[in-house]
Amino acid sequence: MHTNPGTKKIVTRFAPSPTGFMHVGGVRTALYAWLTARKHDGTFILRIEDTDKEREVEGSIEHIIASLSWLGITWDEGPDIGGPHASYIQSERLHLYRMYAEKLIEKGFAYADPYSEAELENFRLKADMEKRPFLYRDYRPDNPPLWDGTTPLRFKVPELKRYEWHDEVWGDLSAGPEALDDFILIKSDGYPTYNFAHIVDDIEMGITHVLRGQEFISSTPKFLSIYEALGIQHPVYATLPPIMAPDGKKKLGKRDGAKDILEYRAEGYTPDAMINFLALLGWNPGDDREIFSRDDLINNFSLEKVQRSGAQLSDDKLNWLNKEHLKLMSENVRNEEIYSRLIQNPTLAGNNKLDDKPFISKLYPIIFDRISTWGDIDKLVSGGELSYFFDAPQYDVTMLSWKGESPKEEIKKHLTWVCEALQSGQSDVFQSPESVKSLLFDYATENGRGQVLWPTRVALSGRDKSPDPFTLIYILGKDESVERLHTAIGLLA
Ligand code: GLU
Repeated sequence: MHTNPGTKKIVTRFAPSPTGFMHVGGVRTALYAWLTARKHDGTFILRIEDTDKEREVEGSIEHIIASLSWLGITWDEGPDIGGPHASYIQSERLHLYRMYAEKLIEKGFAYADPYSEAELENFRLKADMEKRPFLYRDYRPDNPPLWDGTTPLRFKVPELKRYEWHDEVWGDLSAGPEALDDFILIKSDGYPTYNFAHIVDDIEMGITHVLRGQEFISSTPKFLSIYEALGIQHPVYATLPPIMAPDGKKKLGKRDGAKDILEYRAEGYTPDAMINFLALLGWNPGDDREIFSRDDLINNFSLEKVQRSGAQLSDDKLNWLNKEHLKLMSENVRNEEIYSRLIQNPTLAGNNKLDDKPFISKLYPIIFDRISTWGDIDKLVSGGELSYFFDAPQYDVTMLSWKGESPKEEIKKHLTWVCEALQSGQSDVFQSPESVKSLLFDYATENGRGQVLWPTRVALSGRDKSPDPFTLIYILGKDESVERLHTAIGLLA
């Protein structure tokens, strides 16, 4: 890193505009800035960039705060907690931008824009006709009026020259004077532009490292020319790679699944898995490790290892990582979460199986095997793969026939045998799937395993895929199993 962490405290910031929900792109920027600060015992600041009042969406700030809080990305200074540079909301800092604007006017690097919209439009048309790019600096007035705040204030680029700068991810970059222009610093509505405001804030807040997306690279010469006009050293820049849609061909947009980050919470992903996933979207430690705890990420993260090429979003990868993180949890914590999901599931409301603790305990590993997110539990039990554990299954009687070939009489005979065997079984038989198996297996082997075990399983689960019938009997218990077998026998009559 260019800034020696030993001598200068690292200060990073996340500076979202309150224009709607946060998706993976924004959150990843926040995460990388947070990791950079945490790794070097630095400061991480949350700043709200709300100078474009037209694009503002109500509730965005609360949403940003909720999203970062869910992920455990904590800030040391911000709009809700204040700090030495409060306010952390740009619209409450207008006096500061004005102060910096006055400084630039004094130094001769800013002027009041004397032109009307119509005049500017004419300049643009003329440039178009002459097939040259339109630049404000070609129309600098000789004697600009005094700036009274009712017209835009424009920057006067100090020097038309090539700028060279270093980017922690991209290496050495440069751009010629064509990238420079007299852009607006303060609009006629009194609000600063992004280009100006973020620089003032980064200076005032002592930001040492600016991490952001690729869309800002082309404006960097403009930023550098402002720093130069102010006579202030610019921060370290790190440009993050784009996040690509799952097809890997284009940048992720809302249509390709750039969804609200809080939807992931609703779907039952864990914050630890989510930040592990986001960290790997554009960074890797240089080896093939993929599972990182929060502390691992803080210790291993470095801007040097951020990649340049686009990072592809993959739901499969996220699901896999989430499962890996669930496996790292203690069994107790996992089971508590499963139970709390079960009791909140509306289709199970009032189901007395939920009060049967021994039954529920036997079900935990079966559920855990089949989920990658907590949200999967709802899918499994509400009419899904495991719903039969809570409510007796409905199925077509033809399903009881092994490969559709067993005659009814024969199925009935086998089910009756199984039913009687269970009824006469002592309680220790029902203590494990293995002991249930030893009760039934010899009979099944003698009479054809498919012929006996298939209809038993269907009678218990109503499904062609389920855990084996011994496990089903073990979990459902003697009485419930016998009852379901009776129902099946009745259907065959
Ligand atoms: N407010 C800008 C945005 O939301 C932030 C860019 C930056 O980090 O400088 O895109």
